[in-house]
Amino acid sequence: MYPKPYIGEARAKTVNKSRLASELSRLEGFKNPVIELEQYVTPPELAADILWTAHLQGDLDGKVVDLGAGTGILGIGAALLGAKVTLVEKDQDALDRAEKNAEGLGVDVELVSGDVEDYEEEFETVLMNPPFSVHSEQLETFLSTASQADAVYTLANSGSKEVQDYLESEGFQVSEVETYTIGLPATYGFHTEETRETEVLLVVARRQ
Ligand code: SAH
Repeated sequence: MYPKPYIGEARAKTVNKSRLASELSRLEGFKNPVIELEQYVTPPELAADILWTAHLQGDLDGKVVDLGAGTGILGIGAALLGAKVTLVEKDQDALDRAEKNAEGLGVDVELVSGDVEDYEEEFETVLMNPPFSVHSEQLETFLSTASQADAVYTLANSGSKEVQDYLESEGFQVSEVETYTIGLPATYGFHTEETRETEVLLVVARRQ
């Protein structure tokens, strides 16, 4: 989607997609990533793309939840675009970083320390980059909570249709599936190359 010049709506502090990406590139990532939690940061350009799409679709107008928020890039970016956002994350170190990141960019977000499984508030839109492992319990947990929303923006494993199938079975219509190639940083010690190219899907789904 081509970013239109964005004028009006005084509460949006960020004026276009590339500016958003550049603001998000200033955020700090995980200090000591936990392998079991599949912690890695969504690259700023990809985050900006997701958020800009959501913004243009009007999906940042209601309550937005960032499930498994990590250090906060998705939720904080949504807040920069004027959304009312809650970050849910069970790793307290990551959530502390998210809090500092939000302060650094001067946005207010609600922080919830806990498992996405236990999050029972009402919300309109979910943003998430969940643990990817195919058929993992974690992914199921994220999808189950996400399916309470009206609109879901999620990254997914490009090798599987599990996410689309799940959301469709819950009454969502998948409106967009976009493939991105991203360079994953060598977050974990066992990666030999400095970055590893990998394909991910952005799946956008809306309750019918
Ligand atoms: N949303 C961030 C982080 C993605 S990594 C970003 O896009 O950059 C996935 C995140 O989900 C990690 O921070 C991990 O700690 C968190 N997580 C994994 N399982 C979780 C669970 N059951 N409840 C809450 N958070 C969880």
